[in-house]
Amino acid sequence: MSTMLAARFHEHGERDVLRLEQVPLPRPAAGEVRIKVHACALNWLDVGIRRGPQFGAVPLPLTTGVDISGVIDAVGAGISGWSAGAEVTLYSLITCGECEFCRAGDVTVCPQHQIIGEHSDGGLAEYMLAPARNLIPKPAGLSHVEVAALPVVAGTAWHMLITVARLSAGETVFIPGAGGGVASLGIQIAKFAGARVIASTSTAEKMTKALELGADHVVNYREPDWVEQVIAATGGRGVDVAQDLVGARTWADSLRTLARNGRMVVCGSHSGKQFDLRIPQIYHRQLSILGANGASYNELCQALKLANQGLLRPVIDRVLPLSQIREGHRILEEHDHFGKVVMQIA
Ligand SMILES: [Zn+2]
Repeated sequence: MSTMLAARFHEHGERDVLRLEQVPLPRPAAGEVRIKVHACALNWLDVGIRRGPQFGAVPLPLTTGVDISGVIDAVGAGISGWSAGAEVTLYSLITCGECEFCRAGDVTVCPQHQIIGEHSDGGLAEYMLAPARNLIPKPAGLSHVEVAALPVVAGTAWHMLITVARLSAGETVFIPGAGGGVASLGIQIAKFAGARVIASTSTAEKMTKALELGADHVVNYREPDWVEQVIAATGGRGVDVAQDLVGARTWADSLRTLARNGRMVVCGSHSGKQFDLRIPQIYHRQLSILGANGASYNELCQALKLANQGLLRPVIDRVLPLSQIREGHRILEEHDHFGKVVMQIA
């Protein structure tokens, strides 16, 4: 076999630029392995990069796909500890290892960082290459589809809530858009940390699902007074932490939910990148706005360990074959989901 099927695009644009093509089977270089991909979950990243470069140019044609689970199929030179047949998932960040941030273990702010599936071909294909140092053993208690649904969302939610916002037991956290991947893991991680969770979502069905994930209180953001409902659910005080991934459309309301001294932790801006901030509300109420970016290898391993123990569960909306890649993107773009859309490839 010398070719494989890959979902890729040759130019940025709407969903019709996505194509399934036969491409040469990649060969692992020194330090790399080739993975037979069994499942690859979609992220907003896949949609964003397809529409246009997010942070600098990307190589074209490009196969995206950051969240994978699969089996090592071939091993490049100079690798020890991994061999063909091992079941793996992937930490997708490639960092320089040499800057002051990498040396301090603060890899998510490495200025040189790149992402497998953005700056190089990812997992929306039958096979992909990855550096051996980015591999993580697949949690044995979960299926390939379940594992693929976890890395980006579990790692990101862990980094946002535990590492950056320092959420602690007894605090209250507001998680908007509970059907989103990071939000659905955020609800569970916040509960694991001992926090009280107030979530928002848009339909009665999604509200029930948020409660099933462990949210203590859920509001419907289609109701005009939902911010007041969040504040009322805290006894009028406001929440200690708000986890916002939505961006311009929700920032004003997320800030309004905060208690005095509250922290808003942010990662993502798919509803818009610009926001008109009323500065006095930040210092009058002594609010903090905290940026979070990705996750470290160790943070991801911790989250996967909890998932393998059944303490965090992957939230999967639906599983599609790779041939339905455009439908997968449509579901994300139209917010027609609760949890992850996973492409099953093998
Ligand atoms: Zn670095």
